[in-house]
Amino acid sequence: MKKGILFIISGPSGVGKGTVAKALLEGSEGSMVFSVSATTRAPRPGEEHGREYFFLSDEEFNAMIEAGEFLEYMNVFGRNHYGTPRKYVEEQIAMGHDVLLDIDVNGAMKVKENCPEAVAVMLAPPTMKELRRRLETRGTEEQPVIERRLAEAKSELSRMGEYDYVVVNDDLELAIEQCRRIVETSKLTPGYCADFVNELIEEDF
Ligand code: ADP
Ligand code: 5GP
Repeated sequence: MKKGILFIISGPSGVGKGTVAKALLEGSEGSMVFSVSATTRAPRPGEEHGREYFFLSDEEFNAMIEAGEFLEYMNVFGRNHYGTPRKYVEEQIAMGHDVLLDIDVNGAMKVKENCPEAVAVMLAPPTMKELRRRLETRGTEEQPVIERRLAEAKSELSRMGEYDYVVVNDDLELAIEQCRRIVETSKLTPGYCADFVNELIEEDF
């Protein structure tokens, strides 16, 4: 069986990562699963423990660090911790499922260090004004938090060169379709086909 793809989406807060991720998962008919991160930030209205995040206390998060249970973890935006639980990702990839990670730039590069075959996409906004509009319209953060996240956006985007692909999330349907195509094309690389081809070489005619 071919292993799954580790598919990373990063980009500034409010660019549409969650929206694109949801559509990719819904359209995948079960072949792609979401890696639910752990975080110490408070849940937003409507967010559920175990669905958007595992909402943990500082103590619980630190215990997971100590136990080596994170594939990567980061202190994002100076205050809260976010981390990718290792076990679920490794199990799902081994089962042949594609795994989607919505994580920040530093986390993405740490994952690529450990798993060079992971495919990383930087989602960019069409304009910075539109990024502000989306964050303000979402209405889930207080204004000072929005300003802090906007201030981070340019330095996040400036690390575009470390990614495999850049998708501009202007027309949502187009951005989703471009991400779908990236997943499909990534399955045609030698890295992902290696097990299959190596078995082929061992076969008798
Ligand atoms: P992120 O996960 O990157 O922080 P979200 O997925 O929560 O961003 O999207 C932020 C806001 O922008 C949401 O209100 C969402 O509905 C909206 N949005 C996402 N993509 C688009 C798009 N292509 N055009 C217009 N609005 C969008
Ligand atoms: P939010 O608080 O808006 O859900 O997420 C804030 C930022 O944290 C986003 O850039 C998101 O991609 C990132 N993030 C979410 N989960 C993880 C994770 O497990 N690891 C890292 N490094 N970043 C994460």
